[in-house]
Amino acid sequence: MKRRTGQDQSITRQWRPATQAVRGGTARSEWGETSEALFLTSGYAYDCAADAAARFAGDQVGMTYSRLQNPTVEMLEARIALLEGAEACRTMATGMAAMTAVLLCQLQTGDHVVAGRAAFGSCRWLVDTLLPKFGIETTVVDARDPQAFEDAAKANTKVFFFETPANPTMDIADLSAICGIARARGITSVVDNAFATPALQRPMEFGADVTAYSATKMMDGQGRVLAGAVCGTEDFITNTLLPFTRNTGPTLSAFNAWVVLKGLETLDLRIRRQSENALKVGRFLEPRVPRILHPGLPSHPQHNLAMRQMDACGPIFAFEVEGRAQAHGLLDALQLVDISNNIGDSRSLMTHPSSTTHSGVAEDKRLEMGVTEGLLRLNVGLEDADDVIEDLDRALTAVGL
Ligand SMILES: *Cc1c(COP(=O)(O)O)cnc(C)c1O
Repeated sequence: MKRRTGQDQSITRQWRPATQAVRGGTARSEWGETSEALFLTSGYAYDCAADAAARFAGDQVGMTYSRLQNPTVEMLEARIALLEGAEACRTMATGMAAMTAVLLCQLQTGDHVVAGRAAFGSCRWLVDTLLPKFGIETTVVDARDPQAFEDAAKANTKVFFFETPANPTMDIADLSAICGIARARGITSVVDNAFATPALQRPMEFGADVTAYSATKMMDGQGRVLAGAVCGTEDFITNTLLPFTRNTGPTLSAFNAWVVLKGLETLDLRIRRQSENALKVGRFLEPRVPRILHPGLPSHPQHNLAMRQMDACGPIFAFEVEGRAQAHGLLDALQLVDISNNIGDSRSLMTHPSSTTHSGVAEDKRLEMGVTEGLLRLNVGLEDADDVIEDLDRALTAVGL
C-alpha cells in the first residue's frame, strides 16, 4: 500500500497536534480514498510460497495475520504516536488490555511495582490482586506526593505506575518529579493518561517512559467502542511489548480502530469544548455542594500543578454530597445527565463510584483513596452547558442542596 498523503515524512512529522489528529498516519490505498479505509480481514494472501516464507522470516515487508498487523489498526497506531510525540504505539482491544499488557510484558516474579493509590478500579485490581498472584510485589502510595515514590522504591523496583488526573478523586501527580525519580533509578515510569489524552497532556514531555490509554474514553469520545493503546520508544514497543502482545492476542479489531480514527479527527475540538463546559458546570456547583474536586478550579489543592501539566482541565471532575442516600437521590432526579459510569463521552454522564466503578475495591482501600459514600463523578459532554447546569440545579434542589 502506498502512502499517498501528498507530503513527505519530514513535513508531516512537523504538523501541529490538531493537524495530526485529522491526518497523521493516513496511508491511502491504490484507490486514493480521502477517509481512511476499513480493512476487515483476518489474513493476507501471498503471490507465491517463497513470499510467504520471506514475510514470516521478516525479510519481506508486509502483513501476515491480523493478530499481528492490520492496515487500519496501523494507521491508528501511527496517528496516536504522532499525537503523543512517541516513537511508537500499539493499540489493544480495551484500556485494561493495554494496562495488563504494559505491566506483564516487563515484569517477572521477584520484581516490585510502586503504584498510585487513586486509580481506576480495575487498575487497582491489577496492582492489588493480579501481580501479587505471580510473585510481583506491589506498594501503593499517595501519588500527590512524589517523595512517596522515592521512599517506596527498592533495589528490585521495576515500574512506577500511576494516572493523573486520577480516577475518580482527580488527584494530580507531579509528572516531572515522579518520572525524574524513576529515571534516576533506572525504573520505567508508566503513566495512564486516559483522562487528559495527548490533546491536553503529553507525559513524555515531562520525562515519562511509557504512556497507556483507554481509547474508549476521549479518543473515541462518543461512547461507541472499547479500545486501548500503549506508547513508548521503538525499543520498548518492539522488544518488550510486542513479544507479549503478538502471542497473547489482546488485538484491537480493525472496525474499532477505524471508529477511533474517526473519533481522533474531532478530539481537539471536543476536548476543548468539554473542558470549557466542565469548568462552567464546576463553577456553578462549587457554592452548592460541600466539596468539589475539579483541577480547573483554584480551590483544587493542586490547581497550579494541574495547569502546569495540562493545556485545559478536561471534561471530568468529582464532587461530594452527604452520603450514599443523597448521592443516589441526586442521580435519580437527573433528567438530562445520564446515570452512567462511562467517561470521555460527548454526553454528560454521572456515576456514584463507591457503588459502581469502585465497588470491587475493598472499603478501607476505597476510603483511603478518597472514594467516600457521598462522592459523585461527572463527565461533562458537548451539550449546551446551561442545560446541564439547569438539570443539576433541579436535581440539587430535589435533594435539598
Ligand atoms: C476506563 C479507564 C481504564 C480502562 O479502560 P477500558 O477501555 O474500559 O478497558 C483504565 N484507566 C483509566 C484511567 C480509565 O479511565
